[in-house]
Amino acid sequence: MEPVVRLLADLVAIPSMNPMGRGHAGKHYQEQALADFIGSFLRQHGIDAQMQEVAPGRPNVVGIIDVKAPQTLLLEAHLDTAQVEGMTIEPFDPQIRDGRLYGRGSCDTKGSLAAFLQGTADVMTGVPTSNVVLLFVSDEEYRFTGAQHAVRCGLKADFGIVGEPTRLGIVRAHKGVTRWRIVTKGVAAHSAYPDRGKNAIYAMSKVLAQLEDYGNRLLRGERHPVLGTPTLSVGVIEGGQAVNVVPDRCWVEIDRRTLPGETARKAIEGVNTVLQDIPDWEAEAPYLAVAGMEISEDAPVVRRLESSITDVLGRATLESASYATDAGFYNSAGIPTVVFGPGDIAQAHTEEEFIELHQIHQAVDIIRRFLTT
Ligand SMILES: [Zn+2]
Repeated sequence: MEPVVRLLADLVAIPSMNPMGRGHAGKHYQEQALADFIGSFLRQHGIDAQMQEVAPGRPNVVGIIDVKAPQTLLLEAHLDTAQVEGMTIEPFDPQIRDGRLYGRGSCDTKGSLAAFLQGTADVMTGVPTSNVVLLFVSDEEYRFTGAQHAVRCGLKADFGIVGEPTRLGIVRAHKGVTRWRIVTKGVAAHSAYPDRGKNAIYAMSKVLAQLEDYGNRLLRGERHPVLGTPTLSVGVIEGGQAVNVVPDRCWVEIDRRTLPGETARKAIEGVNTVLQDIPDWEAEAPYLAVAGMEISEDAPVVRRLESSITDVLGRATLESASYATDAGFYNSAGIPTVVFGPGDIAQAHTEEEFIELHQIHQAVDIIRRFLTT
């Protein structure tokens, strides 16, 4: 087995599921074991590795290659994966069939992780032409706390790549996302005397009618040339204690996809404005706000990656995406960062997640060139 395939199989065999805020406990719902494995891989290849504790059992790994070059490149990928409920294959016993490796996280995004690690390790046998920061973060799938922690710890680089399955295309623009709750408050009463209470679910129904209308207006509104329009979706609702009680509380969770430059504050203000004539609701502070990003086609990171990809594949594609990534935080922190990696987002989080191994080999080759151009 080729070293990068062995490495990918090892990474997939170490569970690192994101608990998604649902009270799952135990080491399979932490990134610690995977971080330790990567830490020793880096040290074996002569790369200084440190842990940044984001939360107990949930570290970031930072590998530093300092060759005193004027330029520093960032290679980043997340350690956590989706959960495994409903999977029809063995999630943590990677199988290779028909040129594919099957297992949870193989595509999203341990394929990128393996390619970045192997590509960098290969380059370490000579001398890289740039300094390199390897950053592997916790908790991308739920709250993006690892990436935000790394930025708070003073992450510095001239430009970078975030590894996600893009089928080796360069994503140079993607939307952001802001998520928050709206709560309606009523007064509880016996359901036989509804006039003595105030029904928080009825109050929410008025809020929802406005939100649906607003979401439709966003879809007909101003379009970004490659990303289209911003969107709004209500994904969760909860309210009431029992059928014989007038509910005193109801809440919904809003997912608002933003365009580059559109702040979370502006997105929330837009919703507050459409609800201003409706009584009895309150907006909570956003629990997630990832900025959208857009990098020019002529930016050095795009040009350099484009030429590395063209050397290997014959051509490079520039794309955009509707999903948000850690790249939003790095771009906001002044590090121009694109999204690039092996694998297809269509296989991410699926019941039989896999990655095409030829893309892994190509990605290693591309990263080697990117680091030594
Ligand atoms: Zn991912």
